[in-house]
Order: sequence, then structure tokens, then C-alpha cells
Amino acid sequence: MLDPECIFCKIGAGEIQADVVSSVEHAVAIRDLNPQAPTHVLVLPKDHIRALAELPNGGDRTVAELVDRAAEVAATEDLQDGWRLVANVGPAGGRTVDHLHLHLLGGRPMGVPAR
Ligand code: 5GP
Ligand code: ZN
Repeated sequence: MLDPECIFCKIGAGEIQADVVSSVEHAVAIRDLNPQAPTHVLVLPKDHIRALAELPNGGDRTVAELVDRAAEVAATEDLQDGWRLVANVGPAGGRTVDHLHLHLLGGRPMGVPAR
């Protein structure tokens, strides 16, 4: 199901332009508009799932697929020294777009906490 108001649904459907790194049946990886690292890619399901905390039953498959895609992108981006995967949940978690996405960050040393 898509949400006609959702920018990431529109990107997943190809209705809005994005720098697409990979696209498979259920997921797409795009470069973040405002990158926080040399590699900053967002991996998202094409279906409108609002957040990690709102996955439907059986959502573990969705998470596994997104993590697999992220690992593939990390390999093609030559991030063999390491990378970071982040999911922001809720306003206090830093979430700004209400469509589940994982941030793949790499290409520089990462501090703690994540930024
Ligand atoms: P959040 O803060 O929800 O975890 O992450 C949303 C991310 O989406 C932000 O890093 C922001 O820069 C990125 N973003 C917002 N709108 C767009 C867009 O239209 N295209 C792309 N490629 N990235 C976007
Ligand atoms: Zn959406």
C-alpha cells in the first residue's frame, strides 16, 4: 500500500526523482539529499510502512530485506573498513519522514552518539 501524500512512497514508485543506488521488487536505496557522510544512503521499503515500531506481523522479513540491501550497498560503495546502519524512531529519535528507512553511513570514522 502506498500513501499518496508520502514523499518516500513517490520516490519508491519512481514518481519523484532521486539518486537511486539500487532498486529491487520491494525496496529501493537512494542517496540522502543532505548527506552526513561520504556515503549516506537511505534504504526503504516500497510499501508505506510508517516506522520500525509499526511493522505489521511478519515484519521481520521486511527488516531482513532492508538490512540485506544495505549490506549490498555497503559492498558496492567499498565500505570494507566499516559502516553504520541507523533507524530513527519518533520525534525524539530524530525521525523527520514518516516512512520506514535505514540510513547507511560510511566513508568516515563514526563517533558516538550517531550524528
Ligand atoms: P529521518 O530524519 O526521518 O531519519 O531521515 C530522513 C532523511 O531523508 C533525511 O536525512 C533527509 O535528508 C532525507 N530526505 C528528505 N527528503 C528527501 C528527498 O526528497 N530525497 C532524498 N533523497 N532524501 C530526502
Ligand atoms: Zn510512504
